[in-house]
Amino acid sequence: MTNRVFDLIVLGSGGAGLGAALAAAGQGMSVCLLEKGAQIGGGTATSYGTIWAPANRLAAQAGLADDLTQGMAYAQFCAGGTALATNLSTYVTNASRVMDRLMSWGVGLELALGLPDAFYPHGPGSCSDGRRMIEAAPIQRSAMGAWSEALRPAHYCPPGVSWGDVARWGGFANRRNWDAVELARREKEGWLGAGQGLVAQLLVAYLQKGGHLELNVGATELVFAQQRVCGVRTSSTDDIYEARQGVVLACGGYEGNAELVQRFEGLPDWLNPFAPTNQGDGMVMATEHGAAIYRSAVNHGLLVGCAIPTRNNEFFSIGLHGMPYPGAIAVNQQGERFCDESRFQEVVHAFHHFDRAKHRFINLPAHMVFDDRYRQQYAIAGAPPGQAAPDWVAQAPTLEALAEKIGVDATGMVHTVERFNQFAIDGEDLDFGRGKSAFSKSTAGDANKGKFAQLGPLDTPPYYAIQLRVGGIVGTGLLTNEHAQVMHVRGHPIAGLYACGNTAAPTDTGVGYQGGASIGSGVIFGCLAAEHAANARP
Ligand SMILES: Cc1cc2nc3c(=O)[nH]c(=O)nc-3n(C[C@H](O)[C@H](O)[C@H](O)COP(=O)(O)OP(=O)(O)OC[C@H]3O[C@@H](n4cnc5c(N)ncnc54)[C@H](O)[C@@H]3O)c2cc1C
Repeated sequence: MTNRVFDLIVLGSGGAGLGAALAAAGQGMSVCLLEKGAQIGGGTATSYGTIWAPANRLAAQAGLADDLTQGMAYAQFCAGGTALATNLSTYVTNASRVMDRLMSWGVGLELALGLPDAFYPHGPGSCSDGRRMIEAAPIQRSAMGAWSEALRPAHYCPPGVSWGDVARWGGFANRRNWDAVELARREKEGWLGAGQGLVAQLLVAYLQKGGHLELNVGATELVFAQQRVCGVRTSSTDDIYEARQGVVLACGGYEGNAELVQRFEGLPDWLNPFAPTNQGDGMVMATEHGAAIYRSAVNHGLLVGCAIPTRNNEFFSIGLHGMPYPGAIAVNQQGERFCDESRFQEVVHAFHHFDRAKHRFINLPAHMVFDDRYRQQYAIAGAPPGQAAPDWVAQAPTLEALAEKIGVDATGMVHTVERFNQFAIDGEDLDFGRGKSAFSKSTAGDANKGKFAQLGPLDTPPYYAIQLRVGGIVGTGLLTNEHAQVMHVRGHPIAGLYACGNTAAPTDTGVGYQGGASIGSGVIFGCLAAEHAANARP
């Protein structure tokens, strides 16, 4: 048995793990980053890759000064009193400093101008121009060298397109009008943007600092000596990976673990939007040594998706990429609409409604229904706009036939569509106020269509339906303090053990998920973990 000895061991190559690993390497520690899967980047690579960072230096340099007290007010509004005050303020007050540190170690970052504090633009202290949203500067795949082959693929933004680009180019619904020549150039030259770009930026900086990375090595157990964590056992070898100064659990959540999802999320029709290797390993390894877990009062980090059968039933975020566009609605089994479909947060909230008389979820299963005019204009689950609907999308010449095909009450659905079509003609959804929220106005829908950006009739056969699924950032994780140390159920930190990203509970954001706050939290607390470990030499 050979021992491998490092200062810090980091588990997981998503944004949180890469942030922690880079911060440790940047401070001169020897670091071993272990990734259970064969690919680098986890769910972070497939995400939009934004980081919410109030009062950051990039904004100040661009003449877009931000006030930290305003950022704090917004974060507190979002949390609605459900975050741990110290962790919330640690996020807000360290965001800018951590971004500076990342840039000083070579990570290219830029402002995602055009992206507002989108989820709660009505909240006090919110800002609308993107000065708090940071994303990766474009980077070429070749910069990753041999590791580039292992970068996890992404499907939301075309190659080399950032979320800031999407906002500036009129949104995803306007994809038919994006500059095809520019898109082709970026793809040909191997540019990376959004989540892939962020992963590449962090990884390249980490490798340049001498960081060590191993793929296909999943940690299975923590090793203790003298009451502190001093290493991990793994699935691949009997060897212990020894850590002189600590172990950082950045293994994502339990999104791919059906049993833990059932135990903690309690919603049917769940679909994992992240890597299949996200099995809750961090939570399991830590709780077997007394770690405390913490559950968010309400999980607002959920998304509305659908499964793509041709990609191994991969999660696709259709709640943002499709459902808000004119000509699509969501219906339950009664064929009724149940919320403003242009706000995926509302859709997810409505999924939780439980009928106490019938003893079942009222709005699950649910379907997105749309017509052929929609198909002609918009991308279906990421395919280029105007293409024939894929085989896996239910299709029928009439609404009645479609309803029958998907097991929905036909009379109810026909009535619902007739009523909605009138709203679409009048330009006002009298049932749910679709398109009126500040979020919908800023981010969702087809901005080119003004008053009708989210409203369009379903009147052009054939008709189509896609079953909706729920998935996202899980609401339960390890309880951590302001240094990202994992807390014991007895109330003290477990020496040498840290957690960040979705392995840690959302104690900093509480119920108030804001776009960019998840990766932001992972990277910021990952960096704080590495700083604490660096100063805590045993
Ligand atoms: C469509 C979409 C868009 C999103 N966009 C944004 C956005 O713009 N901004 C934002 O803040 N959030 C966004 N999110 C949420 C965000 O992507 C995730 O919450 C975040 O990336 C999680 O990062 P992480 O590092 O904690 O975990 P992950 O990125 O999921 O990485 C965890 C890694 O740990 C590995 N692992 C698991 N177990 C082990 C083990 N035992 N040993 C070693 N390795 C292990 C996994 O294989 C995986 O690679 C988005 C989510 C979706 C679905």
